[in-house]
Amino acid sequence: MKALVFDSSLQVVEMPIPVPESGEALIRVLAAGICRTDSEIKRGYMKYRGVLGHEFVGVVEKASNTYLVGKRVVGEINCVCGRCVYCKMEMSRHCVNRTVLGIQDRPGAFAEYTTLPETNLHLVPDGIHEDVAVFTEPLAAAFRIVEQLSILADDRIVVLGDGKLGQLVAQTLWLYSKNIVCVGRHRWKLDLLSRLGIATALNTDTLEGRADVVVEATGTPAGLQRALALVRPEGTVVLKTTCAEGFQMDAVGAVVNEVRILGSRCGPFRPALEALAMGTIETRPMVSECYPLTDALRAMTRAEAPDVMKIILHM
Ligand SMILES: [Zn+2]
Ligand SMILES: [Zn+2]
Repeated sequence: MKALVFDSSLQVVEMPIPVPESGEALIRVLAAGICRTDSEIKRGYMKYRGVLGHEFVGVVEKASNTYLVGKRVVGEINCVCGRCVYCKMEMSRHCVNRTVLGIQDRPGAFAEYTTLPETNLHLVPDGIHEDVAVFTEPLAAAFRIVEQLSILADDRIVVLGDGKLGQLVAQTLWLYSKNIVCVGRHRWKLDLLSRLGIATALNTDTLEGRADVVVEATGTPAGLQRALALVRPEGTVVLKTTCAEGFQMDAVGAVVNEVRILGSRCGPFRPALEALAMGTIETRPMVSECYPLTDALRAMTRAEAPDVMKIILHM
């Protein structure tokens, strides 16, 4: 099969179809989304080497649970041991023995086939197009915030970042509080949210007042400092950016203002799939371009261009 591999450089290579281990399914990948994390891995994030890709939809070809065979699925990316201290505490996304699809010790989904534990899989309702289903994983990450933090109906929320994750977060939190503004660098990206009725502002605009919650989803280390300047005393800054270079922050300001800093990573697939099925989250305008897997190098380059949002690979 063909796969996009990162091993000090990016290459589309020919390799054997993976053999699922016990309890795992073999999945024929239909489509996969390129994420900022994939670009960060290229810059050294997680020191990962191997097949990239963690946002996918596919069809199960082999599974011990025969009900799954032939079904369209998306998959949770953390593969866990079920025995360690965090697995036993029902915090299995923090499993100390975990592998993570296309990010940590497990070949990813920018390939014709991939494998995942059957328990990681979720059936995709028929009505969800494959170019929409690839948003399940990043949308689940947006829903993670409301698992971690209760948002009140009039909470003032600022989302920093008009990229893919920032927009998914803004749309998700808007379901909980209409008092929200998404701040970004690109008018055309912010316009996608404005069209949905969500307030937006450019980085250069001055924001009135301080926010109860600021979500940092800029993908850059400078975003944390900006978030700390915008949050009210005893407010919460949610950190969503995973970048290879790490953060610098004015820790004293955070101490004096007693700001709660909340790291936030992967989230629940079920509410994400429901929102996509019901159309309460709009992803289609975010899809900029689609490429075949054979053209994955060009797709990865395009994914970093300022004039695109989501790039999707079709296998
Ligand atoms: Zn991702
Ligand atoms: Zn574990």
